[in-house]
Amino acid sequence: MRGQPVSEGAPATQPRLKLEDIYIAVKTTGRFHRTRLATLLETWISRTKTHTFIFTDAEDEDLSSEGYNLVVTSCRSDHSQQALSCKMSAEYDGFMASNKRWFCHVDDDNYVNPEALLALLSTFSLEGDVYVGKPSLDKPISAHELLEGNATRKVQFWFATGGAGFCLNQRLAEKMSPWASGSHFERTSEKIRLPDDCTVGFIVEKRLGISMVHCPLFHSHLENLQLISQRSIPHQVTLSYGMLDDKMNSIKVKGSFSEEEDPSRFRTVHCLLYPLTSWCP
Ligand code: UDP
Ligand code: MN
Repeated sequence: MRGQPVSEGAPATQPRLKLEDIYIAVKTTGRFHRTRLATLLETWISRTKTHTFIFTDAEDEDLSSEGYNLVVTSCRSDHSQQALSCKMSAEYDGFMASNKRWFCHVDDDNYVNPEALLALLSTFSLEGDVYVGKPSLDKPISAHELLEGNATRKVQFWFATGGAGFCLNQRLAEKMSPWASGSHFERTSEKIRLPDDCTVGFIVEKRLGISMVHCPLFHSHLENLQLISQRSIPHQVTLSYGMLDDKMNSIKVKGSFSEEEDPSRFRTVHCLLYPLTSWCP
């Protein structure tokens, strides 16, 4: 077409996604800085430090002076719906101010496999709206949305469990803004009286009419982690550990450290993925 500038040599496709384009938000709390968070810092966060943002509720001079992106929110430091939604709200706002292409949320008991995350997100076209993660339930969750004048409406939607981590692309995150930015996120959460991760699913599926992408590569400690084969570990996007029915639930992986030395198995996984790490045997 005449008059249309044709920039020669411009890529025909979107620019290739880089790991640094992914904003990774980690939710933690003061009393886990020296325990759970420390394990993440020495393992996967050592490879994603510049674009990983740690959302917490307590100052930590050591972490800040070591150059970590520590975001000290004024959220309460408990496990209540309100406290958790307060942190998710801060994570969302932090991402929106960052200009990065993807937002990913994880808990402080998640191992993120950076290369697998990049490979997964690279499969999505920038033209789409993407919300990807794994549900912890086998069917959509039901909520009673509070309407004007104390009326309620039953709504059903899928949500990606926060304990396995999930990602949103920039385009979708922008569309979520009327319900997710600033004080809106906590208000939306109160409307359905459900926690932060459910609120994200509600906004995406019920407010925007966009379906979540179910992906089996995200893992929380609500599932039996022993079922993940060692062979598949390089392909998994997130892993977790924790208590399930009074027993330690962690992945089964043979390698650098014993279960006593490395109960989360994260250091063993890290040495499997990055054997040249200084502290790997
Ligand atoms: N968490 C928090 N405040 C608390 C307890 C937990 O912010 O008082 C965070 C914690 O750091 C983690 C997430 O909430 O990132 C989930 O907590 P946890 O793994 O202990 O419980 P779960 O919900 O997985 O059973
Ligand atoms: Mn957990």
